Amino acid sequence: MEGKMDHKTYHRSKTVTVFFLCVLTLFGLAGRLFYLMVFQSEYYSQKARELHERERSIKAARGRIIDANGKILADNKTVCTVSVIHSQISDAEEVIAVLSEELGLSEEYVRKRVEKYSSIEKIKSNVEKPVGDAIRARGLDGVKVDEDYKRYYPYDSLASKALGFTGGDNQGIIGLEVVYEEYLKGEAGTILTVTDAKGVEQDEEGEERVEPVSGRDLYVSLDINIQSYATQLAMQTMETKEADRVSILVMNPQNGEILAMVDVPEFDLNNPYTLPDGMDALAFSEKKRQELLNAMWRNGCINDTYEPGSTFKIITAAAGLESGAVKPTDTFNCPGFIMVEDRKIRCHKVGGHGAEDFVQGTMNSCKQEAVKNRVI
Ligand SMILES: [Zn+2]
Repeated sequence: MEGKMDHKTYHRSKTVTVFFLCVLTLFGLAGRLFYLMVFQSEYYSQKARELHERERSIKAARGRIIDANGKILADNKTVCTVSVIHSQISDAEEVIAVLSEELGLSEEYVRKRVEKYSSIEKIKSNVEKPVGDAIRARGLDGVKVDEDYKRYYPYDSLASKALGFTGGDNQGIIGLEVVYEEYLKGEAGTILTVTDAKGVEQDEEGEERVEPVSGRDLYVSLDINIQSYATQLAMQTMETKEADRVSILVMNPQNGEILAMVDVPEFDLNNPYTLPDGMDALAFSEKKRQELLNAMWRNGCINDTYEPGSTFKIITAAAGLESGAVKPTDTFNCPGFIMVEDRKIRCHKVGGHGAEDFVQGTMNSCKQEAVKNRVI
């Protein structure tokens, strides 16, 4: 009798346990469902959207760089980006043949991209507009030609180190282009296309476009006329003095505006990755090549120091005149050197300038006069 009772109790407690376990599991599942539907809904609907949406970006027109006269120093020209959409291609062989021929790419390179399973695959960017138009005119299924912008420098190498240039994604690499990147770059737009599970575009859904926002123009104090003239002068000086580099900075003394910043040899802004004349890029290792490019892009005007030398004579001469320490009519005698303490400082004219007054001494850039002026 007692044993039976125990058995029943045991059965009942087992049933209760199972019942509670089921309830717990149900609660757990309901909680999980609630969690997924309410808290994670954004995450999963985003995932689903990504599967069915194809996104192509529209480059923003980068702000122009404009000189003191309103001349455009950095502009944009329209180029194309050619991409393929695997699931929409009907004649892969024709697509490969046309794209490799029109874009000047190897058949192998194009085939790899055309045959790749991906929602969209970029074949080539910065394609000249006529070439892009020609490809679009063929009307090949699965080939997309989008227009975007490429940086263009109308004056090629003029003020190259000051202006700088942009990279493949139109981002500033050096110079003003990188310093003012935030203002120049603008905001890229997007084209959203909704597709079904097979990747076929749903016409009724249409394209959703987010228009790009153009970058802002940058007005600089550089004057293209003064810059051109200073560049010619620097080139001549480099040749006559057999110098490796010549820099010229022209500044407005009233407000410090830079009117010209020349550092020859300059480089071609439209081909910034081409090494200087006579250098074969393939002859160097990747590291060495980058070093050579960095040296070519380096702006000596702002990166290198140079002892003031004779240019500083103007300061001491002006100070001497203003304080009354010297008069323009004071006379000096230059034997070709001057003793300062125990040092013999040579004048640049070995034979000496002889007798000269302050004005002549300044004209001759004579050391004698400069040192005397400072000693006094
Ligand atoms: Zn002298």
